[in-house]
Amino acid sequence: LATSAVALSLAACSSSPATTDGASGDAIKDCNVGISMPTRSLERWINDGEQLQKALEDAGCTVDLQYADNKTDQQISQIQNQVAGGSKILVIAAIDGKVLAPVLDEAKKQKATVIAYDRLINGTDNVDYYATFDNYKVGTLQGQYIETQLGLKDGKGPFNLEPFAGSPDDNNAKFFFSGAWDVLQPYVEKGQLVVPSGKAPKSDDDWASIGIQGWASDKAQAEMDNRLSSFYTGDQKVNVVLSPNDSLAIGIEASLKSAGYAPGSSYPIITGQDADKANVKAILDGEQSMTVWKDTRALGDRVFQMIKSIAAGDEVEVNDTKTYDNGNKVVPSYLLDPEVVVKDDVQTKLIDSGFLKASDVGL
Ligand code: BGC
Repeated sequence: LATSAVALSLAACSSSPATTDGASGDAIKDCNVGISMPTRSLERWINDGEQLQKALEDAGCTVDLQYADNKTDQQISQIQNQVAGGSKILVIAAIDGKVLAPVLDEAKKQKATVIAYDRLINGTDNVDYYATFDNYKVGTLQGQYIETQLGLKDGKGPFNLEPFAGSPDDNNAKFFFSGAWDVLQPYVEKGQLVVPSGKAPKSDDDWASIGIQGWASDKAQAEMDNRLSSFYTGDQKVNVVLSPNDSLAIGIEASLKSAGYAPGSSYPIITGQDADKANVKAILDGEQSMTVWKDTRALGDRVFQMIKSIAAGDEVEVNDTKTYDNGNKVVPSYLLDPEVVVKDDVQTKLIDSGFLKASDVGL
């Protein structure tokens, strides 16, 4: 990825020499930030919001942090209130990336700078930067994990696969799915992977047909229950489930459990994403195979740096200016690297780095 930089100055926020200790050691002067997160129901968003709030407040910013209970109307009115309340930098993890254009028009009238956080905001010119993990790579890592574990490159198979995709309103979900499906679909075509439920999109573009609205665990569980009871009769067993994230994986694992699947040699491979505590426990217990870990602290640091640069009128560092076209423009982005965590990595990657405590996962 080519590194380039985009400059933007913000009259209402200006930087000053460091006087207090912020996350980076610098204070940010006259900095008023609204943070809009989708929901408290998922661990990662709680961490995301609170870490960024703390770093910014430590640097002297005024911060309004809101969670919208996964309801788009609530998110829109929270952002309206932030703009009306004087937030000049907005950090938004959109619930539905397609419905924020009108409220961002208001934000622009108030000269606010908008950073899309983790999820892109579509259909508007009024999004200045995007900071996220490489979403396509998240899917690639899940697909490659399955490919390696099953020996697909060596021609092994056939294996029964059940693919799932994320929430159709989340712009990330299509990137996760296409990253994985670009690895797996050739094996479906060759017959090494078979999808007994028939829920195998013909192409990346059909991913939403198997999307789980709101990333809800209970909906994933109900969907898996249906697939198991309708398509797995007699001795037929699921060998692998492509789950795009941990909240879906939890539902899928509960469904498998109630259908009599137990950890052991014939338990399916199940993927995930986020390294949520419950899922890391499941990995240690053999109920989930892997998760794609996105260190939310690194994303928070990156956004903190962006805010510092914006406030100072400096260039904002980005490393991707090609990938994220929101329909109106290609949004200058900073993409971070996700990584695979399996059982043997829990201690070294998650606990030694301080991302989780040993006691969080029963160690
Ligand atoms: C995030 C994932 C998360 C999912 C559900 C996605 O946009 O990138 O980390 O698991 O939303 O909240």
